[in-house]
Parts: sequence; structure tokens; C-alpha cells
Amino acid sequence: MNVQCELCPKRCDVAPGESGECRIRVNLDGKLLAVTYGYPCSVHVDPVEKKPVFHFLPGTSTFSLATVGCNLHCLNCQNWEISQQNPEDVPASPLPPEDVVRLAQKHGCRSVSYTYTDPVVYYEYTLDCCRRVREGGLKNVLVTAGYINAEPWRELLREVDAARIDLKSMSDAFYRDVCGATLNPVLAALTTARSMVPLVEVIHLVIPTLNDRDEDLTQLCRWIKENLGPDAPLHFSRFFPQYRMHNLPPTPLSTLERAKQIAETEGLRYIYMGNISERESANTYCPSCRNLLIRRSGYRVLENHLREGRCPKCRSEIYGIWK
Ligand code: SF4
Ligand code: SF4
Repeated sequence: MNVQCELCPKRCDVAPGESGECRIRVNLDGKLLAVTYGYPCSVHVDPVEKKPVFHFLPGTSTFSLATVGCNLHCLNCQNWEISQQNPEDVPASPLPPEDVVRLAQKHGCRSVSYTYTDPVVYYEYTLDCCRRVREGGLKNVLVTAGYINAEPWRELLREVDAARIDLKSMSDAFYRDVCGATLNPVLAALTTARSMVPLVEVIHLVIPTLNDRDEDLTQLCRWIKENLGPDAPLHFSRFFPQYRMHNLPPTPLSTLERAKQIAETEGLRYIYMGNISERESANTYCPSCRNLLIRRSGYRVLENHLREGRCPKCRSEIYGIWK
């Protein structure tokens, strides 16, 4: 008997013994099971800045894990060797949720990040880990493209402290052609996350000719301001040719600078540029008095002047989780 998966908007109709589009949710005897449960293929201790999440416990380590699988198929996927593979083709080791907490604590991490592929497809493992992690006194960071149906999304978000969500474009055609997905569920996931999670940061990969026109960037910034608020940190990330997208050049620095200017004009308060070596592009400044709050170099925090989540100079409150 086929089973329909209700986890993400693809709503795959999965035949017995087959998997859905994400490759890991398999119809076994009429029940859909995520076969990667408890078997991450990637486990690392990262600076939380690497996610990138900049308004969350700066300078701390986050225990980062992923299983194989993703419900999107981005032509430019950086992690295609684990996101676009069958589970049986990628080595993985057992790591039950209780051991995730233990290992995270052992490595001095303040949080666990679900990242690299997309944690919404290994949903049950993510959720069970999140619950254990909170019981263990740590925080949860979700790194996702946000392509998930409303009900499971809300259940997961109850356990999440910070979400870093991709907004790849404001064009449904882009989502269809480049990612094998659609736009509206992502917008809905973003607004729901903003209403439920203490911290939401957005990343936008700027790809030459595909989403880098002034009007594209203006529309994106405007949507973020109107729906997530001007405080939502926005990371413009530089594209490099990879996976199935080798026909386009890396994003020129001038494009990222133009994107940043547009975001400022539209009234966003925390704008970053990623995947580049320009030092100041990763610093946090007070949006009220422009005082330097956090100086970063790469993923390292060199200075942190915040005092109890406020600018030490003008005392403005800065959006984020700081302790
Ligand atoms: S989570 Fe996987 S199996 Fe379920 S609908 Fe999405 S792609 Fe299909
Ligand atoms: S959503 Fe992320 S992990 Fe999934 S295919 Fe796209 S870039 Fe890769």
C-alpha cells in the first residue's frame, strides 16, 4: 500500500519499499520511516558563527550534525555529496539523541546545530535530539531551507532556540528551476518561525544573473522587513560555482555591496556579507548609534562589547540571544 508523506509540501506518494524525494523516508510495511534516524553522516564541533548565526552566544561552539538527505535539489548545493545521496551510499555512525547531548557537553558546546543537509527531512531524529538537548541545558539551532508543512513545523519550532533559514529568492520560478521546490511554503515557514522562535536569521545566496537584480534584492529586503521585522539579521552570501552550476561566475564583491546598500535603504538593521574575506562585513554595529558591538574575523569573534544584550554606548537593546 502506498503512503502519502505529510511532512513537506512535496507530499510524496511513496510505494512499498520505496523512498520519497528526500531519499530517506521509506515506506516499510505501510509505515513511513526515516531510515537515517540516529545515524548522522556528519558530526563536527563548529563555531556557531559558521552556520552563520551571528546574534546567538557569540564565540561559542556548537555541536553540529546531519544525516543524509534533503527535500530540495539545489543545482548549486554545497553539500550535495551528503544531501543528494542515498543513505546506503554514505558512511554513517550510530549516535542516539542521548549521546548527542553527552558529546556536546563533553566538547564544551553551548548548543547543538542541525545543519549541512536539511534537518526537516530527518524530522524525528531532529525533534528527539532537540528535546534531549534542552533537558541537558543546551540550546538548539536549526539550519534549514524551511520547506516543511505547517503542523510538523510548529511542533519542531517549540523546541528550537535559533533558526537560520534560507530565503533563496522571491521568485517561485527560481525555487522551481534551481531548487526543485516552491516559494510560498518557505515564506510561510519564515513568518511562523519569527512568531515562535526567539531568534531567526536569514541567509540569501546571491547568484549572478539569477537573483541579483536591484528589483530582486529590493523585493526580498522589503518582504523581510514587513514580515520578519527590521531586526531580522540578513546574511548576503557569495556564490561560487559548484555541483551542477558551473556556468556562472562567483558573485562579484560589488554585487554584495550593492545588496547591502539596498538592505540598508529598505531599513534592515543587521546586514552581513558572507563567503568573503572583507573583514568589516561580518561585524555587528549598533543600529542606533553605529557603535561597534562585535568584531569578527572569519568565524572568530575578536571583540564583544555587548553588555547584557545592549549597546554599551547608547543602551539600545540588540536583537538576539546573548547569554
Ligand atoms: S519529507 Fe521527503 S518523503 Fe516526505 S514529502 Fe518531503 S520529500 Fe517527500
Ligand atoms: S536546501 Fe541546502 S542542502 Fe538541500 S539541496 Fe539546497 S543547498 Fe543543498
